[in-house]
Amino acid sequence: MKYINDVDIANKTVFIRCDFNVPMDDNSNITDDNRIKQALYTIKYAIDNKAKVVLSSHLGRPKGLRKPEYSLLPVAKRLSTLLDRKVDFIEDCIGGKVKAKIDSMKPGDVLLLENLRFYEGEEKNSEDFAQKLLQLFDVYVNNAFGVCHRKHASVYALPKIAKTAVGGFLLKKEIEYFNKILNTKDRPFVAIVGGAKVSGKLECLKNLINKADKIIIGGAQAFTFLKAMGYEVGKSLVEDELIPAALEILKTAKNKDVKFYLPVDFVCARNIEDTMNYITVGYQEIPKDMMGLDIGEASIRLFQEVIKDAKVIVWNGPLGVFEVDAFASGTKKIAKIIGESKALSVVGGGDTAEAVELAGESDNMSYISTGGGASLEILEGKKLPAIEVLEEKA
Ligand code: AMP
Repeated sequence: MKYINDVDIANKTVFIRCDFNVPMDDNSNITDDNRIKQALYTIKYAIDNKAKVVLSSHLGRPKGLRKPEYSLLPVAKRLSTLLDRKVDFIEDCIGGKVKAKIDSMKPGDVLLLENLRFYEGEEKNSEDFAQKLLQLFDVYVNNAFGVCHRKHASVYALPKIAKTAVGGFLLKKEIEYFNKILNTKDRPFVAIVGGAKVSGKLECLKNLINKADKIIIGGAQAFTFLKAMGYEVGKSLVEDELIPAALEILKTAKNKDVKFYLPVDFVCARNIEDTMNYITVGYQEIPKDMMGLDIGEASIRLFQEVIKDAKVIVWNGPLGVFEVDAFASGTKKIAKIIGESKALSVVGGGDTAEAVELAGESDNMSYISTGGGASLEILEGKKLPAIEVLEEKA
């Protein structure tokens, strides 16, 4: 695959598809600008190499409608501050006005286009929409790892028809880190898989079981495994239809001699709102009228022991309901343990990245992916369509 530094961009219009899908509050203030910061290196490279820099992104799910709350204008302002230079903004992403604006740009100028998803052609991977975007630039750069698992026009149809289509430095970093962990020879390799549902992580578990030496299960999916093993799990979240799949995973782990660790105690309450009356019990003692919402101290100590000698750690999915203070402790403490470990630690994006940030451990991880769904699909062993297009172009 080729990257931006493999092609000539001087005096050319470079279209960089970024992932500026950042969280904002009700007043359109950006509450976490990590995704913008992660894109800066590629943008600065394009500026320094005298390209006319045209940035584009999606934001939220406006579903083909021009909704002001999904405007990228606040991102242009934040980019201006972070780059310490003017970043122009135009209230559209295709058409004559946009073309005229780009034609008036000088090398080193930066322009951010309006939300691609204001056109439904973006999510529909429309050829026509891609053709309209194609009119705007000479060189296409994909730096939006977070959407690479989607066949959307700006990351799939467009690079297919672009004369030159390459990756940005953020994409490179994401691919390199995931390749590193999935092909590592360093041992032990520990995979920590949490989150709400076995169904969401089944393919990931099936792939990681062929790669890792030890797998730690946390989050609600632990209860499907425990129920499969015949234990009472009370009102905890269980996917009964996945009990056969859970048993199959346990069998495969045994056959492959992969150590498979489930939590040994849980913080339980009657429901998520009942934050004053929780108890911690061993895994065989979950009361019938309660649900497990976090892992307990004994599980944390067990997992610490399991992680202790790890050379490589990959983590996807929180170990409890980390959004609620009373049930966040397990996830935070495991984040701290990983942060203190000397292992190469890669964290899948989305919820897990948020949980690591909440624990104040972001700077202590080797790498935190900017993509939630995309990082999960890579861990599942899948090829991401938008990356495949760029590989075909190379
Ligand atoms: P996922 O998107 O599958 O990684 O799931 C993340 C969600 O799982 C978070 O919103 C957590 O609150 C939730 N979660 C983690 N542990 C539990 C649990 N024990 N019971 C219910 N939800 C959980």
